[in-house]
Amino acid sequence: ENNAADSKNLRVKLVLLGDSGVGKSCIVLRFVRGQFDPTSKVTVGASFLSQTIALQDSTTVKFEIWDTAGQERYAALAPLYYRGAAVAVIVYDITSSDSFAKAQYWVKELQKHGSPDIILALVGNKADLLEKRKVSVQDGTEYAEKNGMFFIETSAKTADNINELFEEIAKRLPRPTS
Ligand code: GDP
Ligand code: MG
Repeated sequence: ENNAADSKNLRVKLVLLGDSGVGKSCIVLRFVRGQFDPTSKVTVGASFLSQTIALQDSTTVKFEIWDTAGQERYAALAPLYYRGAAVAVIVYDITSSDSFAKAQYWVKELQKHGSPDIILALVGNKADLLEKRKVSVQDGTEYAEKNGMFFIETSAKTADNINELFEEIAKRLPRPTS
């Protein structure tokens, strides 16, 4: 169910969770369209976007990305959104301790109610705002390690580590045995 299609062409549902304003929509737009629009306040365009990447072993991975239209504000709606997701990307803003606390809430929620084999990635976004940093790299790293998650800091603004985020997720997907 999670990895539809054949062993060379994987298709995965990926959801993004995290506080409003941490940059979830900007990460998706940077990855899918290569754009960053600093003026866009609301979730831009479709709430569903897809992007395919090729790995070195010639496997292709089609990410079906679900970006919330603000449902992150309503915890009760979240299960509808992450149901069946193979991957959950939990995003915080490195300049906001509150958003880091909220990310930890989402990790616990996904561990309790997500698919048992879900891949969780922890992302510290807005890494370009170094002078405003409130959450250290070490805090992110340690929390992710404790919870068996992949961790990376990104900037949707500068594009730093955005492709790397999705490539690392792709490498961690279980491959169907043939
Ligand atoms: P969402 O509510 O999590 O989807 O957050 P958005 O993607 O709408 O982004 C919220 C705000 O943060 C917008 O004003 C973006 O321009 C800004 N933003 C998003 N990513 C970055 C980033 O990597 N660096 C900086 N400096 N600003 C960002
Ligand atoms: Mg958004």
